[in-house]
Amino acid sequence: MDSAKSAEKILMAIQSVIGSEPVSLHSPEFSGNEWNYVKECLDSTYVSYRGKFVDEFESALASYTGVKHVVLVVNGTTALQIALKLVGVEPNDEVLIPALTFVATANAVSHCGATPNIVDSEEGNLGIDPERLRIYLQETADQVGGLCVNRKTGRVIRALVPMHTFGHPSRIEDILQVARDFNLALVEDAAESLGSFYKNRHTGTFGLIGTLSFNGNKIITTGGGGAIMTNDSLLAERARHLTTTAKIPHPWEFDHDEVGFNYRMPNLNAAIGLAQLEQLDDKLKRKRDLFSRYEAEFRFVQDVSLFREPVDCRSNYWLQTILLSDESSALRERILESTNKMGISTRPAWKLINTLAPYQNCPKMDLNVAASLYRRIINLPSSASLSGVVS
Ligand SMILES: *Cc1c(COP(=O)(O)O)cnc(C)c1O
Repeated sequence: MDSAKSAEKILMAIQSVIGSEPVSLHSPEFSGNEWNYVKECLDSTYVSYRGKFVDEFESALASYTGVKHVVLVVNGTTALQIALKLVGVEPNDEVLIPALTFVATANAVSHCGATPNIVDSEEGNLGIDPERLRIYLQETADQVGGLCVNRKTGRVIRALVPMHTFGHPSRIEDILQVARDFNLALVEDAAESLGSFYKNRHTGTFGLIGTLSFNGNKIITTGGGGAIMTNDSLLAERARHLTTTAKIPHPWEFDHDEVGFNYRMPNLNAAIGLAQLEQLDDKLKRKRDLFSRYEAEFRFVQDVSLFREPVDCRSNYWLQTILLSDESSALRERILESTNKMGISTRPAWKLINTLAPYQNCPKMDLNVAASLYRRIINLPSSASLSGVVS
């Protein structure tokens, strides 16, 4: 196959949708009540973690996702760290995470003093492959007194962290069944999947705890921010306590009953978040429109497929993704180079976790599918605002 010709056709398909002006991968939009709420927040002087916007954003998120409790924190990484700690991850444990994820998933495990145990993904939804994970655990772990123990390292495998890649739901029910069968706590990294549903149930609400991120590049943003979601009121209470310096509530006394964290989201950020959430449904609609426009253009382009939501799922289409059929890196490099040269921000997938310097010696299963996906994925400009651009 002639990769120069293929690259040219793919570039033309992209330009038919977004035009040829420079454009970012994903831009935030502030076209609702952001300014009003921030002003109200400043006027109230409640700019730190106490204030009505924290309460209101937490309630609004809970009702949107259908989860009982939401605890806002300073970012998605700390949300995951606290989630892992609360489900019992201790120093020297192992935690199963996908190879194909943002480094934050692995870092949260490390921040608990634990080690990632890295697992493969599947092509249909870019998430953990539950069948192959089951076989891997059968081959490498023993069940000892209700614990899952890695036969090679002797360490307890405490938790499993699926991630819903680019907003596409993983096969979370099957993954949850593996967690149950092997005594693993399930924590869902839903950082990318606010607005994504698996069989009508919101992602991040299947495990003991799920986490969100509101970083600037996510579907809605608070500048920086994250959330812990759970249906367990004890876990929610523990999350609130631990992220608020483990302070025992008292009108004037400073008393703390364990080593806590200062991880609560400031009211100022929550004010922006509440305004952003009000616009989420509209944004989801426009992102689906953008997908349809890319789909119309890519339908007739050979050697490449546009990634669509898995069956039984509703995806937020956070990042639009093409999958090249060619595994040689030539075509991918050409596309990345020609688009980025023109200021059209396209991106490859993250380098696999097991190839990053701090994680090269982690235990892992055969990662052939993730390795192939890494060589073939390109993310396209995905801002909702692009849905209305006339080329
Ligand atoms: C963005 C992201 C996070 C972490 O979020 P921050 O708010 O940036 O700390 C975690 N996991 C995944 C998969 C992400 O994409």
